[in-house]
This record gives sequence, structure tokens and C-alpha cells, in this order.
Amino acid sequence: MPQRTVVVTDTQCLLHRNGQGHPERPERLESVLTMLSEYEHKEQLEHITARNASHEELLRVHTAEHIQHINETARETFTRLDPDTATNAHSAGAAYKAAGAAVLATTRACSQAGTSSFALGRPPGHHAERDHAMGFCLFNNIAVAAATALAGGLHRIMILDWDVHHGNGTMNTFAGSPEVLFCSIHQSPLYPGTGKIDEIGTGAGTGYSLNVPLPGGCGDGIYLQVMLDAILPLGLAYKPELILVSAGFDAHERDPVGGMQVTGAGFYHMTRIVTTLALETGAYGPVFVLEGGYDLTGLSEGVRACLLGVADGPDLPPYPEPDAATRSTLTSAAKLLSPYWGEGLFHNL
Ligand SMILES: [Zn+2]
Repeated sequence: MPQRTVVVTDTQCLLHRNGQGHPERPERLESVLTMLSEYEHKEQLEHITARNASHEELLRVHTAEHIQHINETARETFTRLDPDTATNAHSAGAAYKAAGAAVLATTRACSQAGTSSFALGRPPGHHAERDHAMGFCLFNNIAVAAATALAGGLHRIMILDWDVHHGNGTMNTFAGSPEVLFCSIHQSPLYPGTGKIDEIGTGAGTGYSLNVPLPGGCGDGIYLQVMLDAILPLGLAYKPELILVSAGFDAHERDPVGGMQVTGAGFYHMTRIVTTLALETGAYGPVFVLEGGYDLTGLSEGVRACLLGVADGPDLPPYPEPDAATRSTLTSAAKLLSPYWGEGLFHNL
């Protein structure tokens, strides 16, 4: 029985512009909406309109000063927030909807086991820090959603970030907390430069961040190796109550910003692994929150692959031909995490 997926979006997210020639542009979301209008399994999707994230929800992640700063951009036709990030008069409104979409997608997924959801908003969120916008991101949408789920009574949330860039803002938001397990697969070296393998959390959260930096050029095989050898066993050990995915598609082979070689089939299999993890642990979700992805075809193909993957349900792909350098990276990560999880966590290594 194919699973129903709740798709949350809002046309206000189409009005935000960073400025001429910027890769994070309205056409990104338009291409996904066009794909949805032609999607062959429309009966499996339930579309809902986003609401604004509330001030209280945003305050769980961001400072009042940062929220105020974003609010003030609505008075200007152009505000530059950092070298890569700018706003128009509609950007603040879009940011409230993008964060609200992530919260709503999470709330819906948590209302009934076996419900997956996809928050299709922009601006993206995972680089946004507590007190500043960064890297095309104004509010940290997925962090706001996770913080809201924690406030609602959950205690173990897993966030998987497969955007090609490291999700610094999300990691930093929860670095000190064992209530969020943050796992990132990203290209290194690449913006923003964080996400080294030894960044495993701080204080009580030590051992609850897993960063897997990969060199450019990695394709489906290496991504599936990381998923099967590290993300899946760590997730099974953590037993999350909710799984959130920072779903960027800039690791797609067509992407002009990232340098990876992941295909639609790769995102499809990664989704089925995440879906397997949700079933095995009884976690709510998966909830996908759109991050990057700058080739319009690659982006819509990636989102479509996720929808097909959750609909087709739990399944593990055949184990790929293991890559020695990736195995070495994962062995190093396992060593760093073993004091907190025990030996043999990544048992395939
Ligand atoms: Zn990205």
C-alpha cells in the first residue's frame, strides 16, 4: 500500500529574490511545482498550504534581534545580508512561510505514523545560524521544525542532511543536545568549510553529530555506501522518534554549484533507506525539507525521486562496490563515535 505524502508549499515562496543571476531563484520552486503537476501518482499526494512560522517557534532557534533584522528587510527593495545572501521586500514573508512549511510538514508527520511529508519552501535554511542569515538562508527551517517537535514532547530526533554543503546552522543549533542526532554527508572542501569528521558535538551532545565529508566526484555508489554503513546503523542505534531530512539536491550530477555525481536513482535509494530506518525504529516521518539544488532538472528529478521512494516504501538497495577511501573515512568516524556508542557500531566496516 503506497504511503501518502503531505506536500506543503506556498506561492509566497516564489516572490523572494536574492538578485539578478543568483542561483537560488524562484524558478527552482517553479520547476518542482511543474513536476508535481505532471506527477503520475497524484492520488498519493495531499497538498496543503504553508502558514507563517510563529514568533515563538522562530525564537526556539533564533535570537529576537535576528528575527527583527529579517522583519526589517520587508521595508526595502534590496538588502544584502551576507556576500551570498540578499533580500527583496517579499523575502521576509517567504522566510516565514518556508519555516512554517517545515513546522507544518513535521506536525502532520507526527500526527500519524506512516505519514511522510515534504516542505517545499524557499529560501532554504540549513546555513542560517542563531543570530545571522548565511549562505542563501534566512531562518533555519529544519531547525525550527525540530525545535518545535522537541517542545511538543519528543526527545530523539534524527536530522539527515544530504545537501552537498555542510548544514552548519543546523549542527550548531543542536550541537550540545543528545535530543537531536545530526548526520551530514557533504562535499569537502566546499562552502561553508565546516563539517570536519571530528566535529561530533559538544557537552552533553558529544557523540550526537556525524559528519561525513567526501571529495568531489562521488556518485550513487559512495552515497549508498555511507547510507548503509554509517547512517543506517547509527540511526538504528539511536532509535529516533522522528526523522527529518535536509533534502538538498545540489549533489545531483547536473548541479552547477556542487561537484558530485548523484543521480535520481541515487536519491530514490537513499530515500528508501531512510524509509526503512523509519519503519524499523517506529519513527515518525520521514519529513523532507527542501534545501539547495540549482539545476532545475536535477532539482525536480531529485524531489520526484524522494516522492517515489517513500511511496515504494522500505527497501535496501544491493550493497555497492565499496570504495576504499570512503571506508577509511567511515572507520575514522566510527573511532571518534565509539566512546559514545560502543565498538562495532558501523559493523560492516
Ligand atoms: Zn547546498
